[in-house]
Amino acid sequence: ESVVNRIAAGEVIQRPVSAVKELVENSLDASSTSISVLVKDGGLKLIQVSDDGHGIRYEDLPILCERHTTSKLSKYEDLQSIKSMGFRGEALASMTYVGHVTVTTITRGQLHGYRVSYRDGVMENEPKACAAVKGTQIVIENLFYNMVARRKTLQNSADDYTKIVDLLSRFAIHHIDVSFSCRKHGAARADVHSVATPSRLNAIRSVYGLSVAQNLIKIEASDNDPSSSVFEMDGFISNSNYVAKKTTMVLFINDRLVECTALKRALEVVYVATLPKASKPFIYMSITLPPEHVDVNVHPTKREVSLLNQEVIVEKIQSVVESVLRNSNE
Ligand code: ADP
Ligand code: MG
Repeated sequence: ESVVNRIAAGEVIQRPVSAVKELVENSLDASSTSISVLVKDGGLKLIQVSDDGHGIRYEDLPILCERHTTSKLSKYEDLQSIKSMGFRGEALASMTYVGHVTVTTITRGQLHGYRVSYRDGVMENEPKACAAVKGTQIVIENLFYNMVARRKTLQNSADDYTKIVDLLSRFAIHHIDVSFSCRKHGAARADVHSVATPSRLNAIRSVYGLSVAQNLIKIEASDNDPSSSVFEMDGFISNSNYVAKKTTMVLFINDRLVECTALKRALEVVYVATLPKASKPFIYMSITLPPEHVDVNVHPTKREVSLLNQEVIVEKIQSVVESVLRNSNE
């Protein structure tokens, strides 16, 4: 049974960056205002995510890492939205089958916190009382210690740390009311360091730099016609002065970081058609639509989404981007 669990867990947590994404999303779900990530050896030795969120209750600790344990079901009662949020109650459990997980947490009004470690879905010891300030810290050590081939591949592949920095950068420019930091173990300074701000442009400047932030144009679009499409979109897109060899597309749909290849390609096409000499674009977009209109691919790690009325939505966004680019270039 444990081999089966390990294989399944290895599918949910494919690389260190997938673990970081799940942990940061949990911190966001816990209403944190500050999230710090520390990484050692590309995440294979250590991933530590600390937040100042609402914490985990003592009585929830024994079952925390059992599969399908989630405190979030009441919020996502209807099946459609469970589907749109991806798998529930799988992430932490999965991590305990492929790494050593230690949770330190304190809930509001408590004088001390608790620390407890998990392996293969179960607590290794009774939670021990410990000092804690606020929120939750989750540490994953020796990720894939029991998956020799996976460890080898990751050790030889380009640093996963770069992917983690990229991930945190994306979170930081969307959740601008949250402070983020991401640091490599032993490094003096953080590679992502963004302080909560009311201005998205400020956040983009602090994460991606002035060369990006000063070349952005604000965009907005919406539709509310149930017979064609219902959505709201706002974001920033690069102008003709922006220079890059690769497209950066940061896409949030209903506040979840996702990929939508069809939309990305469609926008690249608009750039080539409208600004033939311009480089690949930088695009940040936040789209809101009825949860039941979002379909996340069945595979838990795939972030690719498809949308109901996707063609209509993509075309509408394309035409807004096109007219904004034309006006900016006159
Ligand atoms: P899910 O997020 O789908 O509920 P997870 O396996 O990611 O499943 O997490 C299981 C549960 O652990 C969550 O429902 C939540 O109650 C709790 N939890 C995990 N991380 C945190 C955190 N940082 N702060 C508060 N609660 C957390
Ligand atoms: Mg989760």
